[in-house]
Amino acid sequence: MSFEKKREKLVENLKERNILKDEKVIDAMLNVPREKFIPEEVKNQAYVDTPLAIGSEQTISAPHMNVMMCQILELKEGDKLLEVGTGSGYHAALCAEIIAPKDSNNPGHIYTIERHDYLAEKARKNLKKTGYEERITVIVADGTLGYEKYAPYDKILVTAASPDKIPPPLTEQLKEGGILCIPAGSKKFSQSLYKITKKEGKIKKKRITGVRFVPLLGKYGF
Ligand code: SAM
Repeated sequence: MSFEKKREKLVENLKERNILKDEKVIDAMLNVPREKFIPEEVKNQAYVDTPLAIGSEQTISAPHMNVMMCQILELKEGDKLLEVGTGSGYHAALCAEIIAPKDSNNPGHIYTIERHDYLAEKARKNLKKTGYEERITVIVADGTLGYEKYAPYDKILVTAASPDKIPPPLTEQLKEGGILCIPAGSKKFSQSLYKITKKEGKIKKKRITGVRFVPLLGKYGF
């Protein structure tokens, strides 16, 4: 079966499981070739709903998790998004499909931070070969510090598990009315996914579900 057919089947499956609901996220899932963001040896699992190893002891998240996080963020065209944890670049590409679609008159932008040089370089290559390099800037840094240069952000996505105390720079760099999606909890087990909003300067934290992510390292991480 072709990758395209497998991609369509995965999308149908995620819809049937009532996980994938937002039309914009459905289109993004159909447009981004996950097989081009993963190592050769796991390509046969590109459209299995599971995390996969991408090197440096890191993973690309399972597709249902990409979908849930995109939906929590309520992404829209024109958003300025900060992602912490570039990994393969796949999740950033999904977000780019929504906030900076090709031919947009009001394109947003994604700044994505990765602490591993090797992964950042690989992600840049993946994003170039799939046509996203102008919409996504990959930065090597400690993402627990956020990225002050382009702050504030409409949306912030963290794809590694933070300690319970959310890194303060991230809530500080979130725009008024913005949304931060972040897993937090213990280093290895029992983490929750949170939707954090900022209204009139006040931070509201809503637990969505239990999750399991690799740890967020760095100054305000583990
Ligand atoms: N979003 C990625 C994708 O689409 O492939 C998957 C991310 S993976 C689950 C988590 C990533 O967070 C890893 O690549 C890890 O190196 C990175 N990471 C952990 N702590 C970090 C930090 N303080 N700053 C930046 N990246 C960090």
